[in-house]
Amino acid sequence: MSDPAGEAKLEVKQASKEAKESENVAEKYSAMTVSKNSEMNMGELASVFSAVPTHKPVKKQIQFVEEKQEFSRFPTKAGRRSLSRSISQSSTDSYSSAASYTDSSDDETSPRDKTQVNSKGGSDFCVKNIKQAEFGRREVEIAEQDMSALISLRKRAQTEKPLAGAKIVGCTHITAQTAVLIETLAALGAQCRWTACNIYSTQNEVAAALAERGVPVFAWKGESEDDFWWCIDRCVNTEGWQPNMILDDGGDLTHWVYKKYPNVFKKIRGIVEESVTGVHRLYQLSKAGKLCVPAMNVNDSVTKQKFDNLYCCRESILDGLKRTTDVMFGGKQVVVCGYGEVGKGCSAALKALGAVVYVTEIDPICALQACMDGFRVVKLNEVIRHVDVIITCTGNKNVVTRDQLDRMKNGSMVCNMGHSNTEIDVASLRTPELTWERVRSQVDHIIWPDGKRVILLAEGRLLNLSCSTMPTFVLSITATTQALALIELYNAPEGRYKQDVYLLPKKMDEYVASLHLATFDAHLTELTDEQAKYLGLNKNGPFKPNYYRY
Ligand code: NAD
Repeated sequence: MSDPAGEAKLEVKQASKEAKESENVAEKYSAMTVSKNSEMNMGELASVFSAVPTHKPVKKQIQFVEEKQEFSRFPTKAGRRSLSRSISQSSTDSYSSAASYTDSSDDETSPRDKTQVNSKGGSDFCVKNIKQAEFGRREVEIAEQDMSALISLRKRAQTEKPLAGAKIVGCTHITAQTAVLIETLAALGAQCRWTACNIYSTQNEVAAALAERGVPVFAWKGESEDDFWWCIDRCVNTEGWQPNMILDDGGDLTHWVYKKYPNVFKKIRGIVEESVTGVHRLYQLSKAGKLCVPAMNVNDSVTKQKFDNLYCCRESILDGLKRTTDVMFGGKQVVVCGYGEVGKGCSAALKALGAVVYVTEIDPICALQACMDGFRVVKLNEVIRHVDVIITCTGNKNVVTRDQLDRMKNGSMVCNMGHSNTEIDVASLRTPELTWERVRSQVDHIIWPDGKRVILLAEGRLLNLSCSTMPTFVLSITATTQALALIELYNAPEGRYKQDVYLLPKKMDEYVASLHLATFDAHLTELTDEQAKYLGLNKNGPFKPNYYRY
């Protein structure tokens, strides 16, 4: 039988060990400050890191697909569409219906069948339409306005070029915000080749703007799965160029290099991975002793989790709901399933609009937090008959079952902000007695035999990714973290990082946050010597132990 007390002791021991390591880092870099006024050079920045490898328990069994999906080199159009899956779930989750502001859907020709050149005669790219470059450039400029921290990093490090010689192959969503990241990496000295981690999310005009600036980019909105692998391959498999860094979101690029070009890893200095899925894959590789380079887990850094999960969802839940339904939330009864980071963000946003918010939880700690925040904690079955909206945010499966959907009232709405498309049992709604009526993009009415209608948004996939855009500022935080992780891995002296998965150390998170404080003209209080001594802290951080939960 497990011994909870014993486990707790073990955890505390581990945590205090990590805290000591983190204090050592602080000691070592005591000359540095992360305050707004500090000018940290890139050499110092690189040495800020001394990350602790963190083996988080792998909860999910996410396996690389052993049979690799060969893309068809000369596929027919039909063939391109008919390939069965081997790409990650995240690469097919639909992402922002508003992703592309230019409508190029009338052009049916596959970009792979087109010959395109940019204004300098370059043709090392494959995008939907290079002629959209100017429009895309304006999109990038708009994004730059809310990514001032990344731009400031670009300016600070431009002369030092900490990424000189870096050859980065990237696989992320290709949006205006990513373009700001790519162009920052280029300004810091890197050569980049880029592809999309999701077949729906590319902003075509932004891809064109990057190609026009000479970035080899291979991506367009609405790729087939075959196109997806083809684009990845074009990024990696090119004459006279071999990557030495990988920036991945979802793990598909890393997977492809492992399977097809394992020799490339001889030159790779590190992998930076953003997503939950990709990070799980890396931990799995590490556990199996198959990870042959160091990797940075950006997903679990505080600046990502708190901001992406909590604050981003707090804003984008309303955006997604409003764009799809025009519903007014004042006085509506809403139940939020799960009171973790995402659930807290959604509940706060809806409460602020005057909705009556109920919360369901399995964890007494989160349930108590919900109570203290003024929400009624209930079982879904207790309120199912009278609530207007159900929002799932649990990361779990079958949180809303068919039986519960049967009991929802006429006109009620159900949607998901959590994991993939598993939280609502959507499959159970695809039965002959129920009629599906598509009323708008991403909005289905499910009609019961007695005429009752339930509104299902985005077919149970992530509402905000499917139906709204993401706030640029949050993406700036993530992009800045990615850029710093790349700089660190690329510049780290031999031996600092082993073939393992590392979390960004707290000092690094603090630096990312401090860069963003300038946007708000926020002024940090500095510890006095006496106070620092009293708290046992280095005046320049890190300010919290690794186990601090924020
Ligand atoms: P979390 O672990 O902090 O919160 C999930 C909560 O759900 C936990 O408190 C857990 O106790 C609770 N829970 C689990 N099963 C439940 C059930 N059956 N009924 C009620 N509560 C239950 O995780 P998080 O950071 O809030 O993320 C939740 C999900 O949202 C994850 O799948 C994550 O990948 C996803 N996510 C979505 C976005 C987005 O933009 N939509 C952003 C970040 C994360």
